[in-house]
Amino acid sequence: MANKSHLIKPLLGATYPEVAYGKGIYLYDSDGNRYLDGASGAVTANIGHGVTEIIQAMKEQAEKISFVYRSQFTNRPAEELAEKLAQIAPGDLDYVFFVNSGSEAMETALKIAIQYWQEIGKPQKNRVISRWTSYHGITLGALSMSGHVLRRNRFSSLLADYPAVSPPYCYQCPFYETYPSCGMKCANELETAIQRIGPENVAAFIFEPIIGAAGGAIVPPEPYYAKIKEICDRYDVLLIADEVMTGFGRTGKNFAMEHWNVEPDIMALGKGLSGGYTPIGATMVSARIIDTIERGSKVIMSGHTLSGNPQSAAVALAVLDYMNLHQPGENAANLESFVEHELRTIASHYPVVGDIRGKGLLWGLELVTNPETKESFPIHTFVTERTVKKCFEKGLIVYPAVGGINGTSGDAIIIAPPLTISKEEMKMLMKILEEAIAEIS
Ligand code: PLP
Repeated sequence: MANKSHLIKPLLGATYPEVAYGKGIYLYDSDGNRYLDGASGAVTANIGHGVTEIIQAMKEQAEKISFVYRSQFTNRPAEELAEKLAQIAPGDLDYVFFVNSGSEAMETALKIAIQYWQEIGKPQKNRVISRWTSYHGITLGALSMSGHVLRRNRFSSLLADYPAVSPPYCYQCPFYETYPSCGMKCANELETAIQRIGPENVAAFIFEPIIGAAGGAIVPPEPYYAKIKEICDRYDVLLIADEVMTGFGRTGKNFAMEHWNVEPDIMALGKGLSGGYTPIGATMVSARIIDTIERGSKVIMSGHTLSGNPQSAAVALAVLDYMNLHQPGENAANLESFVEHELRTIASHYPVVGDIRGKGLLWGLELVTNPETKESFPIHTFVTERTVKKCFEKGLIVYPAVGGINGTSGDAIIIAPPLTISKEEMKMLMKILEEAIAEIS
């Protein structure tokens, strides 16, 4: 066993460079190599690495108290963080339940939605509708709602049987139609699904505002969410927005749903909430739902030992303060058209890039064998993995989005650097990306 690592890595047997430290948009390994973090890890390090104010806040809180159990004490950082989140969250999402990851935030969202209908005497209203191309987390409830074929296939025996509808995926339209003449069949399908299952049985519709890991930054047509909201309202179905990837300025607004002025009933948060400085996630819940539970059983049947711990809350609070001061979301909004222009230029030079799409600093490049037919690469070609690897060899980190509708289509890479990136740094990112794409073309 000598020299063999005891740490289970994502790919067993593979070697990974050992990170030494990070600063701004860069990571440095112990051999002195530098990497431009063009994906913020997994779309997480929104304010970049090594921010002094966050490190200071960590130390200060650790000197006071790191852990208390939430059924014994409340704590100031968690109270303040909840208050700040309630101030910036859309609509009446006034209440917060803390967890430790995006997956847990989704689990809690699902449970609260189902519990809500129980509390008002409709326990049979307990099915949740999702979308085929989606990723909501790796735990079993969240994975049950995810159409990420590669991640769910092995565990189908443990997953709930979930009803799903087509994604608003215009580039590879599931109906082989074109927007707007399609009449948004993808949105209409939700209504058909609710009618088929019976509105009295449907608790919620769950979605990522912009489809991330399973699709590569798929942005729906403009009126899509207004229509979804109208359908959900008509049948008394709750809207659960999974803003784990899109929250906290990533798309140029605090929360992506603000682009469409549609307010969800429940919202899941993670990743950017702490910018990766600590594990924390949150489920934000509308006043209507919390008031109902308070009048009823009073207990949300979920929670984890470390939920709302003061250490994580203090770190997230410092991250929110930093964002409030520096407004990196505005930087994301300002850079959007530049990024789009650069990516379109790359796509025009290399036919392997069939589509580019995104908002703010969340962008996807879909890789196809032929831009005319939009045909996906066969799975054994590992085109996404090869592109990610090629970028990595050149010192650029990008994020793979594979395993969509049928496990082969939707091969895409995600570009999502820290929101603090400058235009000059962005030009450097594009240069390396173009070199990598030229080499895999
Ligand atoms: N929801 C979305 C939209 C995500 O992108 C992810 C992770 O990629 C999750 C949920 C799960 O979050 P975590 O990996 O923190 O559990």
